[in-house]
Amino acid sequence: MTQTDAPTERTLVLVKPDGVRRGLSGEILRRVEAKGYTLVAVELRTAGDDVLAAHYAEHEGKPFYAPLVDFMKSGAVLAVVAEGHRVIEGFRSLAGTTDPTTAAPGTIRGDLGRDWGLKVQQNLVHGSDSAESAAREIALWFPAL
Ligand code: UDP
Repeated sequence: MTQTDAPTERTLVLVKPDGVRRGLSGEILRRVEAKGYTLVAVELRTAGDDVLAAHYAEHEGKPFYAPLVDFMKSGAVLAVVAEGHRVIEGFRSLAGTTDPTTAAPGTIRGDLGRDWGLKVQQNLVHGSDSAESAAREIALWFPAL
């Protein structure tokens, strides 16, 4: 494959309930668009147990799993599909590392997030971590796409 015919990718981005509650949805979408990615789907949702259990299946059994699912149900979530070359990697880079206290300034988590008493739970955004995760998560949140 040459550099010019690399396929575009899609990723699932979630603005978590802390981001929606704090009125940061627009700022987060602005950063995704300013980076040059295309928004393919944007929908405000109340996530249910079924979607969250599937979404976070890899974390089931971990101590933070139940509190995380409760947090994700505590308010609306903005579900987004973004598209572009290497968008999976690119959005993870925009988001910053998991812990918002130490995420690099310049990133969404680093600029806009902090510890509110639960260490890393409330870190504003989710982004798919691989092509396989993106395909699974987009099918889960946006089955019609
Ligand atoms: N999380 C948590 N406690 C932990 C680790 C993770 O509450 O000790 C939450 C946090 O919201 C994180 C999500 O679980 O974003 C998924 O964790 P993962 O390690 O996949 O981090 P991410 O890919 O979101 O950076």
